[in-house]
Amino acid sequence: MRILPGAALVCALSLLLASAVMAGTPGMREAALKYFTPEEIARGQSYMGGRYLLFGIRSAVQLSFLLLLIVTPAGRILRDLCTAWAGHRPWLALTLYAVSLLLLYRLLLLPLELYGGYYREHMYGLSTQDLGGWFRDWAKGLLLQLVMLVPTVNLLYLFIRRDPVRWFVPTTVILGALILLLTFLAPVVIDPLFHRFTPLEDPALRTRILRLAERAGIPVEQVLVADASRRTVKANAYVTGFGRTKRIVLYDTLLKRSSADEVEAVLAHEMGHRMYHHIWKGVGLSVVALFVGLGITALVLRWGSARGLITDPADPAGLPLLALTLFVLSLVMLPVQNAISRHFERQADRTVLELTGNREAHIKVEVDLARANLADVTPPRWAVLLLYSHPPVLERIAIAE
Ligand SMILES: [Zn+2]
Repeated sequence: MRILPGAALVCALSLLLASAVMAGTPGMREAALKYFTPEEIARGQSYMGGRYLLFGIRSAVQLSFLLLLIVTPAGRILRDLCTAWAGHRPWLALTLYAVSLLLLYRLLLLPLELYGGYYREHMYGLSTQDLGGWFRDWAKGLLLQLVMLVPTVNLLYLFIRRDPVRWFVPTTVILGALILLLTFLAPVVIDPLFHRFTPLEDPALRTRILRLAERAGIPVEQVLVADASRRTVKANAYVTGFGRTKRIVLYDTLLKRSSADEVEAVLAHEMGHRMYHHIWKGVGLSVVALFVGLGITALVLRWGSARGLITDPADPAGLPLLALTLFVLSLVMLPVQNAISRHFERQADRTVLELTGNREAHIKVEVDLARANLADVTPPRWAVLLLYSHPPVLERIAIAE
């Protein structure tokens, strides 16, 4: 009985916190109406509201799938089947088990992904892709995951077998090196699987961009246009790679809808990311997060074998436990990761004004991109804290103002 007042206090506090977090910022709608029509606001709310919900459902499905494999005999039955198939080749048993888990997982999520990524995008007039094209992308993504999963999981268990306590140290070193390599190679190896890239042709725009890069002190090697319009009407631009693979990529959808001033504003933002070394910082932070995450996973695997959930830390049946630990940690860390990302985005936004001095173009392109991408211009605070890698559009306009 003594815990009751405490429990009541906790409930009251959580309700207070929840209502503060659920509400939008006061005055947000009035501010939004300066730039957007009520219909645009409602449409963005409806589109993004569904995406928040889909994120919740997807996370619940992912959690349940992994939990079921751990608490029911299903995971161990599948491991036994793979072990029987592989004979006396432990690496093959592990590979078969990991691959079948990934296939099951992706098939389970397929209806949600199809609804969210295809049907819903068409419903809102955002997708230009046909069903065959969508499935080709899905299959390419899956193939890529398989290609990366097989060596990674074998390496991981090689280290776990060698040292069931401290395996996460060499694993972090190797995976960190892989992240670096992928950051370098992705623009030339992975991105071309999904988009075709051509050099920006417009000579006047090219000259402007190169001048802008000069002012930013960044030797731009390539400004490329991606044929995004084959998939979507959404507009975007990004900066990727480093060293010789460094490049600025513009969606053709952005070029179609924006003036040269606006494209320049978007690129100044991308150069801001360069000037602040956001790619390097991102890689560094990922490696630190990986180290902590794998360290905790090592503890969980030892706990699991002590509790008899798995025979020992190197038991392949521990894979769902490992995946669950990393998944829960990534959910917990998502608000932190997004807060850091929003900080980077604000820094990059401030560079736009420093480099171009063109406040109007910056604001105009923010408003236009929010319209094109059906942004929620009055998002609830919890969604921003949890899910937003970029500040909401009104905040970005406020920075410019
Ligand atoms: Zn950015």
